[in-house]
Amino acid sequence: MRILVTGGAGFIGSHLCEKLINQGHDVICMDNFFTGSKDNIRHLMDNWNFELIRHDVTQSYLLEVDQIYHFACPASPIHYQYNPVKTIKTSVLGTIHMLGMAKRVRARLMLASTSEVYGDPNIHPQPETYWGNVNPIGIRSCYDEGKRVAETLMMDYHRQNKVDIKIIRIFNTYGPRMALNDGRVVSNFIVQALQNKNITVYGEGQQTRSFQYVDDLLNGVFKMMQKEAFIGPVNLGNPNEFTIRALAEKVIDLTGSKSKLVYQDLPSDDPAQRQPDIALARQQLDWEPIIQLEDGLRKTIPYFEEKLRRNM
Ligand code: NAD
Ligand code: UDP
Repeated sequence: MRILVTGGAGFIGSHLCEKLINQGHDVICMDNFFTGSKDNIRHLMDNWNFELIRHDVTQSYLLEVDQIYHFACPASPIHYQYNPVKTIKTSVLGTIHMLGMAKRVRARLMLASTSEVYGDPNIHPQPETYWGNVNPIGIRSCYDEGKRVAETLMMDYHRQNKVDIKIIRIFNTYGPRMALNDGRVVSNFIVQALQNKNITVYGEGQQTRSFQYVDDLLNGVFKMMQKEAFIGPVNLGNPNEFTIRALAEKVIDLTGSKSKLVYQDLPSDDPAQRQPDIALARQQLDWEPIIQLEDGLRKTIPYFEEKLRRNM
């Protein structure tokens, strides 16, 4: 198949491009390199089945493809808050353009949505039937509401124009190819620990997240893309939940670091807890994550060690 991956030079997108090429597909990676990097896809550049297009999804583009994985969007709070108007344009205009393409060429389109559609949840764990608790006017809204509108657009194009859609809601995912300056908690803590710098815990570190290793996510992504007669939305995440403080202690332990924890202000609207209910994914996709946090961190730490060595 000829497959378009938007955001293909990013953390998740680059793993997706690589795995699709290994499956024998023709892959077109579209990225504007806002948070992605050529480093993530350098090893694919000589492959005849790989094409790279520098393009911003807020502008339309004509292509003929069989499938679209629409992953373009900054995902780290620091990056999506850097230019919030651009972030919401990326989600809304970008998804309209991909839906237009999917409609024109009858391609199957998957949207990478997010657990952020649940906001600061007051139902725990979060099933897909929960409509969420999102602040529409806060500093995270450009991302959360952008993705909520993107989901709405997907559903409306599906109902109105019969576009073949798939919606996944990804929970906190980590692994190699996250940027050094990504700003999300796993990469921040590993990079700080490897440099014996203070580990910046926001708030008291009692807020929770459930961390998923990237390979587990991609297994779920492929199962979802292949599944007939199921459009989602479906949660893809690891239900094992940790406090941010426990994550910091684990990272210090696994890196043998001398770093100390320092406590900084909690950003506004930072969700207090988050854990996916994955019953639907188990039932529909026969999928569940198998890589637990400690094993995933052990696979991720050497990548950051190498990256820091090369940056020095
Ligand atoms: P990332 O920042 O590493 O990747 C995003 C990619 O999209 C980058 O390569 C970036 O340059 C590109 N991009 C951003 N705006 C663009 C635009 N206007 N036009 C073209 N390209 C653009 O983040 P990631 O963690 O790989 O996230 C990928 C997708 O998965 C995002 O849609 C994100 O919302 C979603 N997601 C990720 C997580 C997670 O924990 N990693 C959780 C939920 C949802
Ligand atoms: N966090 C932290 N220190 C950091 C980065 C993040 O304590 O250096 C916290 C953040 O406040 C949040 C959690 O870790 O409670 C996860 O943050 P991240 O940015 O990774 O993703 P989120 O799930 O908030 O989108």
